[in-house]
Amino acid sequence: MSFAKTQDFGLEPVEVRESDHYQEEYVTTLADKWDELIDWKRRAKAEGDFFIRTLKEHGAKKILDVATGTGFHSVRLLSEGFDVTSIDGSPQMLSKAFENAKRHGFILNTCLADWRFLNRDVHGEFDAIICLGNSFTHLFKENDRRKALAEYYSMLAHDGILVIDQRNYDGMLDDGFTSKHKYYYCGKGVVAEPEHVDEGLARFVYRFEDGSKFHLNMYPLRKKYMKGLLSDVGFQRVTTYSDFKQSNLEKDPDFFVHVAEKE
Ligand code: SAM
Repeated sequence: MSFAKTQDFGLEPVEVRESDHYQEEYVTTLADKWDELIDWKRRAKAEGDFFIRTLKEHGAKKILDVATGTGFHSVRLLSEGFDVTSIDGSPQMLSKAFENAKRHGFILNTCLADWRFLNRDVHGEFDAIICLGNSFTHLFKENDRRKALAEYYSMLAHDGILVIDQRNYDGMLDDGFTSKHKYYYCGKGVVAEPEHVDEGLARFVYRFEDGSKFHLNMYPLRKKYMKGLLSDVGFQRVTTYSDFKQSNLEKDPDFFVHVAEKE
């Protein structure tokens, strides 16, 4: 487990295409900046009650947040009365989440675990698993993606759901980057933009007002491919929302949210 303070991409940053590398990316300095990037208040406003409503519609009470990050969704769900377990593979992000939750009056039930070995470290059955904030994009190998989804699937109750989101990489790969930053990375004065995009890598730079800068290397998931994977691991129905709307009316959405039903 890495406790590094600063990011390390080595000499050839665009050659870094590894599922384990997130631990070198979500380091202390980025964890300290993450909330400036996502801006909790603006994000809550932009998302509205989409996730709360979706979880309630499916009768979900016991939730596993597998990409807790600094705790935005875990805290939101706790304040709505859900029973939440908060997982992340980065100790720096998880400890930030714990601090944030404490400030909101909650003691987070956390567990440091990697999605690919979830069942080894986390026990129990959940009504819903959430994997949000464009997190699944950190897995670079097809096998890792299948393994992680299979782990999620097996931890869900028979009628459970997986709520998983992703950036609209199709738009980025086919037409170039157009994000309006409307939904997820809502921080004022923070610039998030791609530095390099090809079919195997989307490398983003995040620039902050104080001059600091971070990178994330991500695998650009195509929507059709992602839906196919969800079906392959056994999810019976996958409904995809474009920027929180269930329609194709949004012409060039920033994000897709997939709601995958186990039965
Ligand atoms: N969900 C949060 C949000 O929306 O603000 C955090 C999103 S952040 C983009 C992705 C998170 O996924 C990071 O905290 C990272 O440590 C975690 N992560 C990436 N790959 C992981 C893996 N294989 N296992 C567990 N956590 C992982």
